[in-house]
Amino acid sequence: MVQKGLLIVLSGPSGAGKGTVSKALMPVLPTLWFSVSCTTRPPRPGEVEGVNYYFKTKEQFLDMIENNELLEWAEVYTNYYGTPRKPIEERLAKGQNVLLEIDIQGAKQVKRQFPDGVFIFLIPPSLEELKKRILGRGTETEESFSLRFGAAADEMKHISEYDYVVVNDKVEYAVDRIRSIIQAELCSVARN
Ligand code: 5GP
Repeated sequence: MVQKGLLIVLSGPSGAGKGTVSKALMPVLPTLWFSVSCTTRPPRPGEVEGVNYYFKTKEQFLDMIENNELLEWAEVYTNYYGTPRKPIEERLAKGQNVLLEIDIQGAKQVKRQFPDGVFIFLIPPSLEELKKRILGRGTETEESFSLRFGAAADEMKHISEYDYVVVNDKVEYAVDRIRSIIQAELCSVARN
């Protein structure tokens, strides 16, 4: 029988750098399969359909919810985000390890369905740094900044629901810590 793959969930407050860190993890962990989410938010400059996200209309997204095609979904800052269910289940069944980079509401839903998953909480080194990062993206209006910053500070309270916490002081360091966590989990006696 094929051993099921490991499901790794990288989550944390907005501005922690989840996107940057998960991108930097790809070349370091080439056997890991990175799930591509669906979203109703419009593409940012340089974002590519099927690589960064599957860009959907609200109607298409609601249909996916209705048809149970999403493993989890959440409304994050007025847009919908969700993880397509089928590719994850297929890959895990084949023994492939899968990484999800999702928000905290989504991670909660995944934990209910995959209690054996590895849940990693990525945090910025300080709230001051978080503020800089959200603003530094350059795509925020004043309103969307307040929304993201306020939510992020609140989201820090969820740390205790996770297996690991990783401080994203520097992307290379965060990547290295996450790689070590995943390697340790793959070697764990409880799993093997
Ligand atoms: P952004 O718009 O900056 O790409 O993402 C906004 C937030 O949505 C980030 O916190 C990101 O982790 C989260 N996100 C991206 N994809 C998903 C997903 O499939 N499900 C959930 N729940 N959140 C997601």
